[in-house]
Amino acid sequence: MTDGDHEGEAEEAGAQVADEKKEEPAQGKGKDEEREEPPRKEGRLSRLRFTKKKDMPGGLWLKCESCGEVIYRKELEEKGRLCPECGFHFTLPGRDRIAMLLDEGTWEERFADLESLDRLEFTDNQPYSEKIDRAVKRTGQKEALICGTGDVLGRRIALAVLDFGFMGGSMGEVVGEKIALAAELAVKEGIPLVMFTSSGGARMHEGVLSLMQMAKTCAALADLNAAGGFSICVMTHPTTGGVTASFASVTDVILAEPGALIGFAGPRVIATTIKQELPPGFQRAEFLLEKGMIDAIVPRTELRETLAKLIDYAK
Ligand SMILES: [Zn+2]
Repeated sequence: MTDGDHEGEAEEAGAQVADEKKEEPAQGKGKDEEREEPPRKEGRLSRLRFTKKKDMPGGLWLKCESCGEVIYRKELEEKGRLCPECGFHFTLPGRDRIAMLLDEGTWEERFADLESLDRLEFTDNQPYSEKIDRAVKRTGQKEALICGTGDVLGRRIALAVLDFGFMGGSMGEVVGEKIALAAELAVKEGIPLVMFTSSGGARMHEGVLSLMQMAKTCAALADLNAAGGFSICVMTHPTTGGVTASFASVTDVILAEPGALIGFAGPRVIATTIKQELPPGFQRAEFLLEKGMIDAIVPRTELRETLAKLIDYAK
């Protein structure tokens, strides 16, 4: 895995989410794949990539998807993947998130060996099993969810982080199982569960087995709640589909990063269905805060302090 690979994917995914506004009338099916794979047809994205290659040798520069400013990649990384111009919170690879969040040397990964099976022997433009192999190779991890324990300013937590770089952070059997295991771990050890989401939703390659994870993860969080546990979800850009519609939305506290796209179906689908123009800022964190769907928006730089405060409050 190289950072470049990882990042390229996250950017492409981000651009595709933006693209979806214009072109995505599809209902659910194939949605996750589109986010994971660049579109084959000549579209805005392929033009953008061509321009990037031609004008920005070595990928030293990239364009902010929020303000359009051309940013020096190194500067973006140094600022924790925040746009130096507008402060847009770029998608963060799972491992970077963990490193940024936890006290140094406290991370212990758990359940890392669980891997997906292609039970339906699903094939679209290529076999699902091959897609998994590629994602494993690229990210160096076996699935989209990274789980473990660690400390935030001295407070021990169970942590679950979805990595958008692994098949768009989509939820299949293994992601669902690991969320459930993380919730059980939190109960067993009497520690809070903190989750970070960035996801295209349920993994359609696993059919109904992926949809089942919505019920399963919610049941696991209900058990945590019944056992007197405490849970926090931080929704990051983008959090959509079956992840928004299940475990991400049922925690005690729901936080979001500024500007994060959070929703279920794409805006175009909704606009077509209700035959109305959508209000400005629709499906962005700020809009959802105003409507009461999330509890607070927390900039990436203040997350550690905020989480520590919330954990102390819940004790
Ligand atoms: Zn920007």
